[in-house]
Amino acid sequence: MLNKRYGASIKLPVLFVVIAGIPVVALGWLGWRLLEQDRALESQRQRERLENAAGLLARELDRGLAAWEELLPAVMQGAPAALPADAAAMVFDGQGVRYARGVPLPYFPHVPPLPAPSASLFAAAEAREFRENDLAGAAEAYRRLASAGNPLVRAAALMRLARCLRKQRKLQDAIAAYGELAAMRDTPVAGSPSELVARRERFALFQMIGDPDAASREASALDAALREGRYRLDRATFGFYRESTPHASPKPAALEFAQAVEELWPVWQQQPAGRASAGPAERPLAAVWRRLPDGTAAIVGRVDTLVAASDAIARDFQVRVALEDPSGRAAWGSLPAAGPQAVKTFRETGLPWTLRLTPSEAAGAAQASLSRRNLLAAGFALMVLVIAAASYFVFRAVNRELCVARLQSDFVATVSHEFRTPLTAMCHLTEMLDEGSTPAGRLPHYYRALVKETRRLRAMVESLLDFGRMEAGRRLYQMEETSAADLTAQVVAEFREQISAAAQRIELHAPPPGSGSNGFSIRADREAIALALRNLLDNAVKYSPESSTVRVSVESSGALTTISVADQGAGIPPAEQRDIFRKFVRGSAARALNVKGTGIGLAIAEHIVKAHGGRLEVKSEPGQGSRFTIVLPAQASHA
Ligand code: ADP
Repeated sequence: MLNKRYGASIKLPVLFVVIAGIPVVALGWLGWRLLEQDRALESQRQRERLENAAGLLARELDRGLAAWEELLPAVMQGAPAALPADAAAMVFDGQGVRYARGVPLPYFPHVPPLPAPSASLFAAAEAREFRENDLAGAAEAYRRLASAGNPLVRAAALMRLARCLRKQRKLQDAIAAYGELAAMRDTPVAGSPSELVARRERFALFQMIGDPDAASREASALDAALREGRYRLDRATFGFYRESTPHASPKPAALEFAQAVEELWPVWQQQPAGRASAGPAERPLAAVWRRLPDGTAAIVGRVDTLVAASDAIARDFQVRVALEDPSGRAAWGSLPAAGPQAVKTFRETGLPWTLRLTPSEAAGAAQASLSRRNLLAAGFALMVLVIAAASYFVFRAVNRELCVARLQSDFVATVSHEFRTPLTAMCHLTEMLDEGSTPAGRLPHYYRALVKETRRLRAMVESLLDFGRMEAGRRLYQMEETSAADLTAQVVAEFREQISAAAQRIELHAPPPGSGSNGFSIRADREAIALALRNLLDNAVKYSPESSTVRVSVESSGALTTISVADQGAGIPPAEQRDIFRKFVRGSAARALNVKGTGIGLAIAEHIVKAHGGRLEVKSEPGQGSRFTIVLPAQASHA
C-alpha cells in the first residue's frame, strides 16, 4: 500500500531481484559447474582405477595359469614338483588317462576295455555248472583254476567259485572266496577291478546272512575305494558301484573335477594346447593342457586359487571382480547390473574368461568424493543463502530509507501548505485592519478570527517543535500526579470549543471533575498527555462523518488507566494498523477522504504515551470505526 503511494519504490524490488539475482545465479551456476566437473573427474578417476585393476588382474590370472602351464612337462614326466592346491593333473593319450595325480577323480571320460582271460579255460567247468548242474564238481574245477599263477585267470576263477558256492548255499565259503578276490585289488574281472566286484558281492552276502556290521564295513570299504578314485573307472561303472552301496558318497568336489574333465575331454582331443573354464558357477574350475610328444598333459584347478592371489588387487583398487566364460556364463563372482564397469574380454587377454570389474560398495574414495561434493554443495547453498539474505536486508533498509525520504518530502509540502492557510487568513485580516475599512461592529469578530488563526499557527509550530524534540530525545516531561478524568474532561472541553460547530459530536464518559472519586489518578505531564489526546480527537473527527459521534471514555481496571477515543468512521485496514504509527505515514482514510495532515499525529501520541510507561492501542475494522486507547499505569497513592 505504501508502495502504491510512493510509486517510485515499485521499481526497487525489480532492482533488488536484478542486483541480488545476478550474483546468486552466477554463484549457483559456478557451484553447479564445479560439482559437475568434480563428478566428471571422479568418474574418470574411477574408470581409470577400474581399467588399471582389470589390467593388473588379467596379468595376475595370466601369470597363475602360466605357472600351471609350466608344470605340464613335469606332469608328463610323472613328477609334478608342486601341484597347485586343490588341482588334478593327468596325462592321457588315445588309450585314455595314463596317469592322474592330485584330486582323485572318481571316474574318467575314457577308459580302455580291461583284459580278460580266454573263455575256453573255463568252458569245461562252466559246462558242469550250468549244463550238468554239478555245482560241487564245478566248484572243484574253479578252485583248481584259482590256484593258477595268472592273476587274470585266478580272479575269473575265484569269481566263478564264489558264484557256485553261493548257489550251493555255502554262503560263508562264498564270502571267503570273494574275500580272496577282493585282495586282488585292481586285477580285472568281469570288466571291473576285482576289489569292487568282490566287495559289492560280499556286501550283498553279509546282508543275506544277517550281519549288518560286516555289510556296512564292506559298503564303507567300497565307498572308500570309489571316493579315493583308487581305480580307473568310466562313468557308467562308477555309477553302477556307487548306486549299489548305501551311503556311497564320493566327495562332491572330486565329482566336479570328474565332470569338468569329461566336459573338457572333447576340447582336449581337438586342440593341442589351451586354457579353458569349466565346472559349476559356484566353484568354477580352470584347465590348462598341452599336447607333448608322449601324450597330452593337463591340469585342472580351482579358479578360487587363482583369483585369491588377486584379492590384494581387488582390495587395493576397491573393486569387485567377476569372471565370465566365453559363452557368457558366470564363472566366478557376480556384479550389480548397473553402474560403471571395466571389461576385459577373453580375446584381449588370452584368458578363458571375460573379466568384469565394478567399484566395490565400500569404495572409500567414492564415499569421500561424495561427502566432498556434499560439502561443496552445502557451502555454495550457504553462500547463496547469505547473499540472498544480505541483499534482502539491504533492500529492506534502502526501501525504508527511500520511503522515509519520500514521506518527509511529502511532509514538508503538506506542512508548508498547512502553514500557508492560517498565514493567508492572518495576512488578509491584518491588511483589512490596517486599511481601517472595517466596520466597527465587526472588529471583535476579526480579532477573534485573528486570535484563532494565531493559535492554530502556534499549535502547529509547537507540535512540530515537540516532535523534533521527541525525535532527538530531548523532550522533557514534567511528571505530576493528576486525574485522568479531569485532564480528559478539560481536553474535551477545549476541543469542543475549538470545533464549536460540531461540539455536540463529542461524548465524554468519565467521572465528572471533583466528583469525589480520585478521577483515576495517573502520573503524567499534563501538557503532553493533552497533546496526545488532542491528536486522537482530531483524527476521530477528521476521519469520521460529521453526523457521527466520537466517544471519549476514561476507565480504570486494576493497575491500568485507559483513555479511549472511539469513532464511527471508515476504520483502518489491518495491513495499515502498524504503519500508521510511523512518522509521516498517512493511511488510506486520509487519501480516501482527502483530509489534510502531516502524518505525525499518531507518532507523537505514541511517543508521549510510551514516555509515560504506557502504550497506545488501536482496534479498528474497516467500515466499523476505530478505537484508539491510551493505556497508562494507574497511580496507586493519591491525595
Ligand atoms: P494524519 O492524520 O496527519 O494523516 P496521523 O499520524 O494522525 O497523521 O494519522 C496517520 C494515519 O492514520 C492517517 O493518515 C489515517 O489514515 C489514519 N488514521 C488515524 N486516525 C484514524 C481514525 N480515527 N480513523 C481512520 N483512520 C485514521
